[in-house]
Amino acid sequence: MRWRQSRQSDNIEDRRGMSIPRGAKIGGLSGLGLVAVVLISMFLGIDPTVLLQGGPEIQTPSVSVDRRSPSAVNDEMRDFVAAVLGETEDVWHETFRKMGRTYQPPTLVLFSGAVQSACGMAGSAAGPFYCPPDHKVYLDLSFFEDLGTRFGASGDFAQAYVIAHEVGHHVQTLLGIMKKVNELQSRVSPSERNKLTMMMELQADCFAGVWAHQAHKSRDILESGDIEEGLNAASAVGDDRIQRRTQGYVVPDAFTHGSSAQRVRWFKIGLEHGDPQACDTFNADRL
Ligand SMILES: [Zn+2]
Repeated sequence: MRWRQSRQSDNIEDRRGMSIPRGAKIGGLSGLGLVAVVLISMFLGIDPTVLLQGGPEIQTPSVSVDRRSPSAVNDEMRDFVAAVLGETEDVWHETFRKMGRTYQPPTLVLFSGAVQSACGMAGSAAGPFYCPPDHKVYLDLSFFEDLGTRFGASGDFAQAYVIAHEVGHHVQTLLGIMKKVNELQSRVSPSERNKLTMMMELQADCFAGVWAHQAHKSRDILESGDIEEGLNAASAVGDDRIQRRTQGYVVPDAFTHGSSAQRVRWFKIGLEHGDPQACDTFNADRL
């Protein structure tokens, strides 16, 4: 991905190396902690109960201070994240303007170890997440290492896809889709609820594709191999693959993010059309 000439966003809040206040609890999952676990599981499609039971894959993060000092962390990664975030801002500003709306960009919080959000406390082990009440994306850069080593999805564009997916949830929030879906979810059965979450996740994948299309059209960001990296990442974080890794079998009814094939499909739809209108997963004939 050609990101070095991209405008770097100022909407980065760097909390790396910051300690969590004493008394904060992650291990005892109740109240806000529970909310956080459910939310943090949103990106990876891990069934929250897997997190709550603390399977072998998921370690409860330690509440203590980060092992690295802020100056020691890799700021090349920070520059990359700021550039990708800047690219999402430029694309969504323009897309919202065409819709007669104004885009308010999210803040991206870089953290290490654990973080306090308006959605509660979250540890880095479960992956990046978006918290609708504070309009912030939370990212521990160590996730990108995991993406390469644990999920086999390496490459800068795989990482950009992850950021664009979380920004996709912000777009859903601004457009009122998140609220509508949440309201609907309070009135339906658990399996219907899962299906709605999955539609929302696949739409965020599609929005990530829309972003890549538009950013490439305007600023020629994609290099050869990037699309494959993005598709590979979408596939690697599919529910079926993750379920197989964490529990050894697949339960389609428990899918909340979509299978690998579905995630790839919707990322591609966004990528091909470059138009958020093409991302109506809620009324699609098939997911
Ligand atoms: Zn998501």
